[in-house]
Amino acid sequence: MANFTLILKEHKIVADGTDFYAFVKPADFTFEAGQYVAMMVSHLVAPDNRAGVRSLSISSAPYEEHLHFTMRTGESGFKQTMAALKPGDTVAVTKAIGHFTLSQAADGLPIVFLVGGIGITPVRSILKQAAHEENERSFTVLYSNRFVKDATFHEELKNVKLKNFQYVTTLSQDTMPCSGGNEERGYICESMVRKYVSDVQGVWFYIVGGPAFVEAMEKMLSDMGVTKERQVSDPFTGLTGAPKK
Ligand SMILES: Cc1cc2nc3c(=O)[nH]c(=O)nc-3n(C[C@H](O)[C@H](O)[C@H](O)COP(=O)(O)OP(=O)(O)OC[C@H]3O[C@@H](n4cnc5c(N)ncnc54)[C@H](O)[C@@H]3O)c2cc1C
Repeated sequence: MANFTLILKEHKIVADGTDFYAFVKPADFTFEAGQYVAMMVSHLVAPDNRAGVRSLSISSAPYEEHLHFTMRTGESGFKQTMAALKPGDTVAVTKAIGHFTLSQAADGLPIVFLVGGIGITPVRSILKQAAHEENERSFTVLYSNRFVKDATFHEELKNVKLKNFQYVTTLSQDTMPCSGGNEERGYICESMVRKYVSDVQGVWFYIVGGPAFVEAMEKMLSDMGVTKERQVSDPFTGLTGAPKK
């Protein structure tokens, strides 16, 4: 199954209950921003219900030096084995696959990302690559988390250097008042989308997160009259919820 061996360079925590792994990128590994791999760990430190294999989006951009993966911490054998890796240890991955890429929307219309939690991983890759290429297309991100401490890459994304860029965070559990620009409370809903997207029929919606989130967003867009043809979805099958508190 696996085509590439990756050598771990660095492991760190980047948000509450969220692990970041950087690997040396093999010279012949290529991918399009937004794609994912199947990763396999060997020498499981605990039993695993899925034989040590998980699908993971690549959170780094193609132009970046290393290959990054960012995942919610968990108790599964796979996650425990990942957490025990030391620099120099290896994992195996397939070649990159997946359609959650800008190739799906080659017409240049604005892109609106609806993101639930750790679904931000392919979005970071796409935005960083777009900034690197000085892409002048319009990008909007509506990024939903329970609390700001769960919002992976928050500081970095706030400061992405894109010419036409709106970055909006919404916190579903935070009871503190909003601290200012482009901050919301509650779940992503129709009025929130319309507040930041003036012409919902004239954009592409890219939806990514756990299956329940993606399903809820698809229903909302369908109720708003947005056609399926302008939606690209990436449900993180297997992801069951927000990190433990
Ligand atoms: C295209 C795609 C891209 C994805 N990209 C990402 C990504 O970038 N980042 C990311 O985090 N996820 C991503 N996922 C989801 C990922 O593949 C996993 O399904 C997810 O991270 C959950 O894996 P897990 O090992 O924690 O839980 P699983 O083993 O799948 O278990 C499901 C639930 O059971 C619990 N559980 C499992 N074993 C135990 C145990 N022994 N004791 C107690 N509880 C247990 C887990 O905590 C979890 O809540 C992606 C999925 C797809 C399909």
